[in-house]
Amino acid sequence: MENISRRGILMGGLAAAGGLANLAAAGPPIGPGNGHGNGTPSLKHANGDKRRWDVIVVGAGAAGIGAARRITDQNPDLRVVIVEARDRIGGRMYTDRTSMGIPVERGGELVHGGPYASTYPWIQQAGFDMRMFQNNYIRLADAPPSSPPSQWHQWDSPTSWLFPLGLPEALIPHDPAGQNLPLPAALPGEKADAYLLRLGVTAANTPSGLIYELTDDSEPLYNTSASRVAAPLRDCIRYTLHPEQAPAPEILDPNDSRYDDGDYKIIGGYDQLLRFIAADVPIMLRTVVEEVDYTANGVELLTSKGTMFGRRVVFAVPAGVMKHRDIAFTPGLPAAKWAAFDAFTYSNIFKCVLEFKDKVFTPNGTDNWGYAESMDHFPTTLWNASIASPRYKGQVIVGWETGAAARELHALPLEQKYQAVLEVVRRAAGDQGLRYHNAVMTDWANEPYSWGPYGSGGSAADMAATVGGVLYWAGMRTSSVSSSYTSGVAQADQLLRAL
Ligand SMILES: Cc1cc2nc3c(=O)[nH]c(=O)nc-3n(C[C@H](O)[C@H](O)[C@H](O)COP(=O)(O)OP(=O)(O)OC[C@H]3O[C@@H](n4cnc5c(N)ncnc54)[C@H](O)[C@@H]3O)c2cc1C
Repeated sequence: MENISRRGILMGGLAAAGGLANLAAAGPPIGPGNGHGNGTPSLKHANGDKRRWDVIVVGAGAAGIGAARRITDQNPDLRVVIVEARDRIGGRMYTDRTSMGIPVERGGELVHGGPYASTYPWIQQAGFDMRMFQNNYIRLADAPPSSPPSQWHQWDSPTSWLFPLGLPEALIPHDPAGQNLPLPAALPGEKADAYLLRLGVTAANTPSGLIYELTDDSEPLYNTSASRVAAPLRDCIRYTLHPEQAPAPEILDPNDSRYDDGDYKIIGGYDQLLRFIAADVPIMLRTVVEEVDYTANGVELLTSKGTMFGRRVVFAVPAGVMKHRDIAFTPGLPAAKWAAFDAFTYSNIFKCVLEFKDKVFTPNGTDNWGYAESMDHFPTTLWNASIASPRYKGQVIVGWETGAAARELHALPLEQKYQAVLEVVRRAAGDQGLRYHNAVMTDWANEPYSWGPYGSGGSAADMAATVGGVLYWAGMRTSSVSSSYTSGVAQADQLLRAL
């Protein structure tokens, strides 16, 4: 790089004096090797000057690792390095290997889409054991024990359409296969629970499948627009009156492309995947990028470990880090880019992991279940994080909630968060005496270098737009491991074309 600023000279001296000496750090145990590289983050593969690079990638999450891998594979002559603020790679994919009897995921856990995910070729190449959540159940925990919806059933089984206390008579004229009268329109601003009550459907008499349809992975009924209720409610009326017309429940088959949105888990830790992809790309851990000076000739990064120079830099940090103004830029970034980051908002996500000494909950009589959702409890969703771990005697259960209900759970003191999940597990297992052995969760909203779990908003194009021909932007607002990875690869391709 031609231009070295005043600060660059000063910090260069610091770096030479040893600031960069201990950048390499050993990571936790690595996944199965296959000759692709040993996956241990370090600088041992970085030859030559540790301050000057062709490409510096900021952030060792899925986006940054995807970008660095792609650039290295496409042009092995380029000197590429990843700088990472934390003492581990993975970012919001965080496999905790010490708190429980098996590795547990505090952040990203599921491979959405399994064989159809962009990361799948790596999963396949590494030979990781990836299992689909095939046996998934819902129920109404508070329904009368004699009513079928109180028992675990599939979300689309005939049981899920039933009104636990019986179909209210006033709804019969709205049967699509009968008189077919339209349901009253929702009022402006009306919420789903209020609308249902107006139609005579009490909370205790709401079909499990209706709640599932309306709330899946988003907001509880009390924060769902009433305008969404009519269509699935009419299905419930119809299938209650004409069970023979109900569609057959799906049988989830990992080999069937119709189920390309299924959820899968890499047994033994999701972190194995990023270690495998990163392989021998040099990674500087515990190196926080604080300030950036750039010209058309290249980029100077002021980090917590000294100054570095890159011909190009890929920022693969979360949008929240930008919104938080954790990194200063000289010259300043375009207003449209800041506006995009400022418009980004994080979702409310509650994820809490409990470990039990035994297999305490087996809704289908085995430990081979994926999701179990009590549609009338918070957190609604439990999932089996110790699936396919036959030698492990215990059970790890995740409590998961989103939206307004997640916000309320997060407002509780930590112990009460664990208790809230425990209460749902106790009810699910039918054992009020159950106690957990270990519990962990990460408060992602207050976690530096993330400032939130994932979210939406802000122009994707403005966030990703290259600045000054030298600054590239990957990930940021992507909300899955595979979409972050894909975004990193796409930015790498763009950078390579322009280099
Ligand atoms: C609780 C939770 C559950 C989730 N569940 C799933 C799931 O089941 N499946 C799924 O696909 N996705 C899930 N996600 C989302 C997924 O984890 C993220 O979308 C994805 O990991 C983001 O990758 P990324 O590389 O874009 O960002 P990150 O993983 O956040 O990586 C950014 C990196 O930049 C580093 N960094 C930040 N600032 C600096 C700085 N100044 N200097 C140097 N480095 C810096 C960070 O430390 C981090 O390592 C979940 C996320 C959370 C929080």
